[in-house]
Amino acid sequence: MKENQTPSKPKSPPQNPDFPNLPNLNNDWIDAHCHLADPKYTETDLETIIQRSQKARVGRWIQGGICPEDWDRQLILQKKYGRSIITCFGLHPWWVAERQGSQQARGEIEEALKTLETRISEACALGELGLDFHPRFQNPNSQEIQRFAFERQLEIAKNNQKPLVLHIVRAHAEALEILKKWSPYPSSGIIHSFSGSLEIAKEYLELGFSISIGGSITKQGFQKLKKAINYLPQDKIVIETDSPDQTPELADVRSDQLNEPANLVGIAMSVAQWCQSDYKEILNTSTDNLKRIFGI
Ligand SMILES: [Zn+2]
Repeated sequence: MKENQTPSKPKSPPQNPDFPNLPNLNNDWIDAHCHLADPKYTETDLETIIQRSQKARVGRWIQGGICPEDWDRQLILQKKYGRSIITCFGLHPWWVAERQGSQQARGEIEEALKTLETRISEACALGELGLDFHPRFQNPNSQEIQRFAFERQLEIAKNNQKPLVLHIVRAHAEALEILKKWSPYPSSGIIHSFSGSLEIAKEYLELGFSISIGGSITKQGFQKLKKAINYLPQDKIVIETDSPDQTPELADVRSDQLNEPANLVGIAMSVAQWCQSDYKEILNTSTDNLKRIFGI
């Protein structure tokens, strides 16, 4: 961002040459992970949510991909909002887990993986992919199909040199084993919505990944994360909202409200409290890190 700070700074921001109705995006903060294509947002809501986000200086949004329909919706948003929508195509572990059981469902996953292989060049990154062993996904069939889709996606990402957006819940040991098997990761990536311990974080750092911190930091509990945050290198931390999910506990946000990218600032303020830093500094560094990781 420093390269844009000239002594004679114009009063209004310069326009983006590709999308003249949007301001220059270079000085805006980036939400490391959100789902603006989620059908929970109506079209009118989304317009207001985007405006609120831009007003809060959060002007670029890295998406988390769910399934082929979601990738199409991301591209529609990108046509409207330009490069501020950073596309990410992948098969979410929930989408995969919900398809275990029948032969037909397995066929649907294999079909989606083939589509991912041919369409990944349209996306900036691959994800979200990974493992989720929450009790509702604990039957062996669900875990087996998740492992299969995870490994296939790692292969596709590596063949196409794409950064990864990893979703790992209650499955760090299993995911790390698979990630180590497929290492190295020259295109790196992020561990989205991380809430584990410093020891686990270090294992991901060793593989070259960065740790993405979301709304958990604003909530009661999550002591391991709150302790870990002080020891993580600044150039390995990024900040996300995971909107519309994981609404943070912030003074001006109702708990029944859908989460939105403007809340990134409140999340960064919580992070700043736990590591005695300045929230703007945290967001500036996170944005620089994301530009580097995603090549944006
Ligand atoms: Zn997500």
